[in-house]
Amino acid sequence: MLSLLKHMVEIESPSDDKAAVDRMGAFLAQVFERLGGKVTFYPQQQAGNHLKAEFAGGASGRASGRASGKPALLLGHFDTVWQMGTLAKMPFRIQDGRAFGPGVYDMKAGITMMIFALRALKAASVAHRPVTVLLDTDEEVGSTTGRPVVEATAKECEAVLVLEPSQGPKGHLKTSRKGVGDITIRVCGRASHSGVDFEKGRSAIVELARQLLEIVKFTDLSRGITVNPGVIQGGTRSNVIAAEAWAEVDLRIARAADASLLEQKFAALKPFDPDCTIELSGGINRPPMERTEGTVRLFGIARDIATAMGMPLEESATGGGSDGNFTSALGIPTLDGLGAVGEGAHAANESVVVEELFSRTALLAGLIQTL
Ligand SMILES: [Zn+2]
Repeated sequence: MLSLLKHMVEIESPSDDKAAVDRMGAFLAQVFERLGGKVTFYPQQQAGNHLKAEFAGGASGRASGRASGKPALLLGHFDTVWQMGTLAKMPFRIQDGRAFGPGVYDMKAGITMMIFALRALKAASVAHRPVTVLLDTDEEVGSTTGRPVVEATAKECEAVLVLEPSQGPKGHLKTSRKGVGDITIRVCGRASHSGVDFEKGRSAIVELARQLLEIVKFTDLSRGITVNPGVIQGGTRSNVIAAEAWAEVDLRIARAADASLLEQKFAALKPFDPDCTIELSGGINRPPMERTEGTVRLFGIARDIATAMGMPLEESATGGGSDGNFTSALGIPTLDGLGAVGEGAHAANESVVVEELFSRTALLAGLIQTL
């Protein structure tokens, strides 16, 4: 497992480098084909090609209904947030029981676990329902092209197991995720000389500042709604009244019903200064993964298997989104955070706990066998 993980980390695959991501896809296709999977690529213009691998049910299970039922979907992505060349500064290494490297935790360890769980089931000739693996290539940049492929594939499946990193040092599974969105607010005012023609100017910066004070009131922690103006820009020089200013605002919601509510609040914003205009773009782009009955049932199955293995297993909610948000919103039971235990996703200390890789892979194999 570690040598496969090392190999995959060393094929760098940043979301915005199609050639690099496609190299990773080509390698994965070989691995899945060797395991007996039927590989399909979904070619893309800008993003890397998404990859699907389909596996028939376990050999000795052909007679059972499960082996011919709807597949279980193993879901993930093989793009990373790390630019090409990061590997030189952050090489794959194992230290103090942890494996380090760009994308190791999010989520090349999760892909390694998928591959070894399938290998283990094949080696043991275990009966299980068919398995579909779907890995997309633009998850880290919003799954713009991955989303339709993920949704179409998930609709054919019984349940979705997402191999994204687990939560926290104890490796909790994720049974709910917030919905995610972003809105850009752009203000147009009127430029003028701040000394000569002050009265003629209409400051887009001042207008934007006032709008932002309204927008942050949309945060409602008790309902799990947060609004964060994360980027702000505007103006040209200190002696010019700013004609333009804009901000990028991150939105998070815990309940699907809050999406339109929140978007309506934004749409209702009016300029304080009638000589300024405001223009909004964007919205909620990932619905929340709510803690549905189907997800709770999946978690129960996982916990029973873990208990039998002598492994404590708990569930958590997270504010971060994944492709699991899309499948869950379609009503398909989705269990997330089944990937590695570790820390530092998108950060320089990104690493996974080596010892946990093996037990978590066994848990995944057990889940596939039981579903
Ligand atoms: Zn991820």
